[in-house]
Parts: sequence; structure tokens; C-alpha cells
Amino acid sequence: MLVSAKEMLEKAKAGKYAVGQFNINNLEWTKAILLTAQECNSPVILGVSEGAGKYMCGYETIVGMVKGMIKCLNITVPVALHLDHGSYEGAKACINAGFSSVMFDGSHYPIEENIAKTTELVNACNVLGISLEAEVGSIGGEEDGVVGAGECADPTECKMVADLGVTMLAAGIGNIHGKYPANWAGLNFDVLAAISEKTGDMPLVLHGGTGIPEDMIKKAISLGVSKINVNTECQLAFAAATRKYVEDGKDLSGKGFDPRKLLAPGFEAIKATVKEKMELFGSVNKA
Ligand SMILES: [Zn+2]
Repeated sequence: MLVSAKEMLEKAKAGKYAVGQFNINNLEWTKAILLTAQECNSPVILGVSEGAGKYMCGYETIVGMVKGMIKCLNITVPVALHLDHGSYEGAKACINAGFSSVMFDGSHYPIEENIAKTTELVNACNVLGISLEAEVGSIGGEEDGVVGAGECADPTECKMVADLGVTMLAAGIGNIHGKYPANWAGLNFDVLAAISEKTGDMPLVLHGGTGIPEDMIKKAISLGVSKINVNTECQLAFAAATRKYVEDGKDLSGKGFDPRKLLAPGFEAIKATVKEKMELFGSVNKA
């Protein structure tokens, strides 16, 4: 069964740990993350970007796959299926398709429009018991083809959006998507502390979790971050393990070309990465 992210994140905020959001791309990705969550007895959030949604043949296909896997693999830890950086239309489509959580990223709109659209979605999600993530202050990165510096959100705007009744709030604090550049200035803990103070119990979300040093992750959690998004790191681990399999010539030996064998090292690499993150975030045995 899929659950809203509300309860798991409220528990995480109160218990000073974070729940990982791991983005999925296909069956192997989803299976690896679900099995690791179960083995670690950890709550988990499966993230789906709109691009990944298209790739996996639409939101209904994804809901069917995830629900089927939870049943077949006997997954009993809390699992939320979450739209990552959704447009307004994308959020509505996921709500209708059976996602248990959505993010509406209105950070590129003027704050008034972000608030108006977020408010409409708060109402739609509340009726169905779906959790909603909002974003204030855009998070930089390679997503639009340009590597931007991480912006910092205005704590007063964060408070305005938190008060709309969203479940969790993503706020830029110098974090970016993808790999961090060598000259990255690090997370801005003064801004995070100010946002945390203004928004109280609101679980805060840290995007761009790949490559942030462990001490910064721990400090961010201590200042109110309860959800951390990991995407690129699983991709890098999968690619490196698959490359090694091919470079070692294993696909040319025996039935090494069998996709179930060819994709196995990448699958195991995702599992190892997810486990490492769950341990770092402190969500092990918190299911
Ligand atoms: Zn993000």
C-alpha cells in the first residue's frame, strides 16, 4: 500500500533524522530501492520526475508497477510515491493516477502566483489524503542545461507558503541538482536556520543530495531538514557498475548478455548507494 509522506516526515522532523527520496527510472531502480528500504526497515519516498514519468509510459503504469512490487516483494515499510518538481498540470495528473504524494514546483512563478496555484493543490490533496511539497526559491543545477549557483529562499516567503497547509517545503539554501562544482560555496546554514525558525514544525526538504559532504547533511538535519532527495548518485553508481561489467567482458562470456545478468551489478550498486544514504540520514529502523 502506498502512503502519504506526511506521517513519516512528521516523525522524522520530531526524531531529528531524514527520509530519503530516491528517484526511479525503471523496474530495476524501483525494485532495488524498495528491497533496500525493507532490509533497512526504513520509510522511503520514490521520486518520479515528469521526464521519468514519460519514459516509464505514464503515471498509471508507474502506480501499477509500484503497487504490484510492494505486494509481490512483501514490502511492509511505509512507501510514498511522489512526483518530483511537478508542474501544476503534472501534479493534477499524478493525483488522478493514484500517486500518494506530489511536489508542485511553482518557484519560477512570482510568489503571488506560486501561492495561488499551491493553494488550489493543497485543497485537492487534502481531500484525498495526499502529501504536497511546495518550493520557494529555485534550486539551481543542470536541469535546464545551465549550471546555476544555488539560490537562497526568502524565509518570509517560506513562512507564507508553509502557512498554506502544505506537507513539506523545499527551500533553496545554496544546494543544486547534479554534481557540485569544485568552487561550490556550500550550504547556507544561516538561511536554513532562519527558515526553520519561521516555519516551526514544517518538514524541510533538501534537494540535490548528491555530493553534499556528510557533515553538512548532518547539520542540515539538525536544523530541520527531514527529507533529502537523491537522484544523480544512484545514476552514477549504476553506470559505473554496468561499465565495469562490460569492460571486464562479462557480457561476452556464457550467457552474460542476459539482461537479468547484465543489469545485476548496476542493481546491486543502487542498493548499496541507497543503504549508505539511509544510514547517513538516520532513517534505518524508523519504519
Ligand atoms: Zn529537486
